[in-house]
Amino acid sequence: QQEPMTQSLYSPPGLEFSSGSGSGVPKIVQRTIAKEVCHLQAVGRGRFGEVWRGEWRHEDVAVKVFYSTEEASWARESSIYEQCLMRHENVLAFLASDICGTGGWTQMVLITEYHPLGSLHDFLSQQPVLTLGNTIRLLFSAAKGLAFLHTEICGSPGKPALAHRDIKSRNILVKTGGVCCIADLGLAVRYSSINGMIDPSPPLVQGTKRYFAPEILDSSLDTRCFESLTQADMYAFALVVWETLLRCRLPDSDPVPYRLPFSEHAPNDPSVELMQSLVCEQALRPTVCQHWLTSSYSSAVVEMMTECWQHRASARLTSLRVKKCLRDLDESFRRSDVQGAEADGN
Ligand code: ADP
Ligand code: MG
Ligand code: MG
Repeated sequence: QQEPMTQSLYSPPGLEFSSGSGSGVPKIVQRTIAKEVCHLQAVGRGRFGEVWRGEWRHEDVAVKVFYSTEEASWARESSIYEQCLMRHENVLAFLASDICGTGGWTQMVLITEYHPLGSLHDFLSQQPVLTLGNTIRLLFSAAKGLAFLHTEICGSPGKPALAHRDIKSRNILVKTGGVCCIADLGLAVRYSSINGMIDPSPPLVQGTKRYFAPEILDSSLDTRCFESLTQADMYAFALVVWETLLRCRLPDSDPVPYRLPFSEHAPNDPSVELMQSLVCEQALRPTVCQHWLTSSYSSAVVEMMTECWQHRASARLTSLRVKKCLRDLDESFRRSDVQGAEADGN
């Protein structure tokens, strides 16, 4: 596995949790990173900046350029990626981070691997349809990434547990090969069981309102309890599962056009009040299509999904449970697929 190439030049006090691997390139070289990258094509835009496809040292990379007002967000995302043991197949791979400029002008960039298929949201809206096998594989890989984030690795080097706090289909990328990686760690918070601290201590309302769990909407979430933060991630993950199921082709039925969760009731950028009325008061959840219940595999995914979007946060499945459930489905599906192909004489 590749080591991070560098550490950032800048790490404000209070945000540092552990130092990087220490194997970065010398500082004098780091200073040139932002200048070395050429920006080729804008590929995305979020709340904190713009993402470009660029070229760095003859490789395609993604360059996230933060708005000049978003220094804290850049610093937080950089410091999380720079931790030891942040390398995982299903977490966006970090290459470098840089800040440059003086006086009134600064540019903050984060350089990561580039994934031409873009976000899961874009992939689901553009891709004709998914097979059941593709669907399970995408979800299993995303669950692996999320479970990795949520899990603390004790030891040296170790990794704190992380709650993502902005899980949605736009913050999950699709890699060639049909697996996902979790991206956009700009709002993530760390937890270490050694000191029991959540760093930074997060505000209640943060993230994307459409994906807010009931306990965020009705202000009952205890932000001092790390488990509550991961339970809110699981609710949002369930909505992503629903979005993915929409595009799955099952025997004797057509996939449904892609749409965002709650799009029938909630326009662009809905208010917290509206989401609270839908999700808490009316206890509304995205509609489960009847044809999903015709296959044992998709019914099992539906059951897992509904357990994850329960109102009571402590009743939801954890990311580890979801990962195990999807792993079993993936293995059993592959076995049945091989048997099916053999029976067909392939
Ligand atoms: P923000 O924090 O501003 O929301 P993100 O990191 O979520 O920024 O990136 C915004 C969008 O840019 C994503 O939804 C995705 O479409 C695209 N994007 C981000 N990183 C990559 C990447 N490494 N490869 C390809 N597209 C990316
Ligand atoms: Mg984003
Ligand atoms: Mg972000």
